[in-house]
Amino acid sequence: MGDKKRVKQTRYERLAKKAGYGKPLFHGKIRYCVRCCMPETAEGLAFDEMGICQPCRSSEQKIHINWKEREAKLRKILEKYRSKDGSNYDCIVPISGGKDSTFQLYVVTQVYKLNPLAVTFNHNWYSETGKYNLENALERFDVDHIMFTPKRSAVNKLAKKSLQLIGDTCWHCHAGVGAFPLQIAVKYKIKLLIWGEPGGENHGRATYFDPIPYDRDYFTKISARYYAEEVVDKNISLSDVLGYVLPSKEEVEKAGIVGIYLGDYMFWDDERQTEFVRDNFGWREDKIEGTYKGYKSAECRMAGMHDYSKFIKRGFGRGTDHASIDVRTGLLTREEGFELAKKHDAQRPSKSLDYYLKITGYSEKEFEKILKDKRDKKAKLLP
Ligand SMILES: [Zn+2]
Repeated sequence: MGDKKRVKQTRYERLAKKAGYGKPLFHGKIRYCVRCCMPETAEGLAFDEMGICQPCRSSEQKIHINWKEREAKLRKILEKYRSKDGSNYDCIVPISGGKDSTFQLYVVTQVYKLNPLAVTFNHNWYSETGKYNLENALERFDVDHIMFTPKRSAVNKLAKKSLQLIGDTCWHCHAGVGAFPLQIAVKYKIKLLIWGEPGGENHGRATYFDPIPYDRDYFTKISARYYAEEVVDKNISLSDVLGYVLPSKEEVEKAGIVGIYLGDYMFWDDERQTEFVRDNFGWREDKIEGTYKGYKSAECRMAGMHDYSKFIKRGFGRGTDHASIDVRTGLLTREEGFELAKKHDAQRPSKSLDYYLKITGYSEKEFEKILKDKRDKKAKLLP
C-alpha cells in the first residue's frame, strides 16, 4: 500500500468539520433520536411519540427483563434438542470468527456442555485477524466444523450486482450466512441453530418482547432481501449461487428446524463479552475502517465498504451505530457520540473501497451515483 498517497478527504469530512460541536452531520436536514445518535433514515427504525428510537427503548427493556427466567427457558430448549444417545450433533452454531462466534461457542460448549457442529459461511473476504480468530475458536472449544467458501469469480460478480440490487456490497454475505447453515441443518438433520446477537438492539424492527422469530426467510427479510434464484442473470448463473439457495419451506418444516438467539435469553453486553473472550480465549481485535471499535466485523476486510455504502445512501455509518450503543450504555454523552460518528462515518475507507472498485470496474463516481439513486424517503434530503 502506498504511503505516498495522501488519504483523500471526502466532501462529507469537510461538512463534518463545519457542523458545530456535539451536533450531527446533517443537523437540520434529518431528524435524529433524541437519546442516541441514530437518524430517521435508518432502515425500519421507528421513533416513538417522544422521539426515541426502538433500539433505545429495547436497551431500557433489557434492564427490566427477568433474565433468570429467560435463562431457565434457554436451558429447557437446549435439553429438548440435546442428542440423547450422541448419534448426532446437539445443535449448529453458525460462526464467522467474530467475537460473538467465540462467545457463542463458549456458552454452548462450556456452560451447557453441548456438542455442536460449527458452520461457517466464508464470504471470502477474511482478514488475517479473522482467520486467526476462527481457527483459534475451533481449537479452543474443540468442535467439529464445516465451512463453505464461494469461488472468487462469483464473489466478485455478486459484489458488483449487490450494490445496484440492495445498495450495499454484501448481498452474498447476507444471503450465505442465512442459507449455508440452514442447508447443513437440513442435510445433517440437526434441528437447533444457535445464533448470538439479539435482534432487539441490532436493528429497529424487533424488541425483546416482540422479537422477529427465526425462520427460513429471516436473513432474506432482514438483510439479503433477494433470494439466490432472483439474483441469477446473464452474468450470474445458478451454479454461481448454489451456496446461497435456501432449502425449500417443506424441507425446513419437515426437518423441524428451530433457531434461537442467545441474546434473547441472556443479558447481552458487547463490551464485556469482548473483554471476556479476549482475556480468556485469546480473541483478537483489529483496526476497522469506519469505526473506533475494534471488535465488530473484525473478521472482514470489506466491513468499511459496507458501512460507507450505508453512509452515502442513508447518511450514517458504523461510527453512528457504535456511538449510539455507547450513548445507550452511558459510556458517551450524545454530543460525544455525534463527534465520534462524524469523524468515522465520513471517512473514505480507502483499502476496501479501492479493492471494491478494482473487482467491479466501477469508477468512484459511478459507485456514489448508484447509492445516491437508492436514497428514499427522508434520505432524499441528504446532500
Ligand atoms: Zn435512540
